[in-house]
Amino acid sequence: MSAIEISQVKKRYGTLQALKGISLTIEEGEFFGLLGPNGAGKTTLISILAGLARADEGRIAVRGHDTVADFRNARRMLGVVPQELVFDPFFTVRETLRIQSGYYGLNANDDWIDEILENLGLADKASANTRALSGGMKRRVLIAQALVHRPPVIVLDEPTAGVDVELRQTLWRFISRLNREGHTIVLTTHYLEEAQALCNRIAMMRRGEVVSLEKTGDLLRRFAGLQLNLSFA
Ligand code: ATP
Repeated sequence: MSAIEISQVKKRYGTLQALKGISLTIEEGEFFGLLGPNGAGKTTLISILAGLARADEGRIAVRGHDTVADFRNARRMLGVVPQELVFDPFFTVRETLRIQSGYYGLNANDDWIDEILENLGLADKASANTRALSGGMKRRVLIAQALVHRPPVIVLDEPTAGVDVELRQTLWRFISRLNREGHTIVLTTHYLEEAQALCNRIAMMRRGEVVSLEKTGDLLRRFAGLQLNLSFA
């Protein structure tokens, strides 16, 4: 069974065809990169995957669970870190994570919450109010929120956009560890160098289509070849 099976997904906003029939299979344990310029359709695809938007056509299954017909089970399998820093500003960091556990029908596991906080450099912010945190710290809380129900598949939508080098390193160390421990990771980014350092396969999207899909090593060889050709031009 694949971690994520995306079949012929189409989405239109008015006259704009944001997704033109995306098909992708992401296997269990992969660290998968979704690259593409602004407007390529990455966030739209993730919103459909997370059940936040409806596809016009096509379907997505997460570990065999259809994201529409079997939404609850599909959602339980997924930890989604959205691009926007939105969450309830009235609670402390720990309360936020405990409430998130409740959404999944789980009792808050403070040992696991402490482990997440520790690994994301948030341990000393556990009692801080989320509204008083800096942008980078809020980003860490969003990541912590996505992990609280121990999802086997973790999807991060441009988690390093506008964050400092220290957070990037902390984040990638932790996410790489989760991947080594067996979690499937899907990462969207604008940065090829970030994807090449982390991902074992990379899909390039452009204007609602997947224009290439290859192992990171093959992609790099192709890019190296292109540069060579250019330097001879
Ligand atoms: P970025 O890297 O800038 O986040 P992206 O690859 O995530 O881009 P999307 O945000 O999925 O791209 O956008 C794909 C296209 O769909 C864009 O042209 C965008 O303007 C359009 N779009 C996205 N959401 C909506 C919406 N709710 N209503 C109308 N158009 C939308």
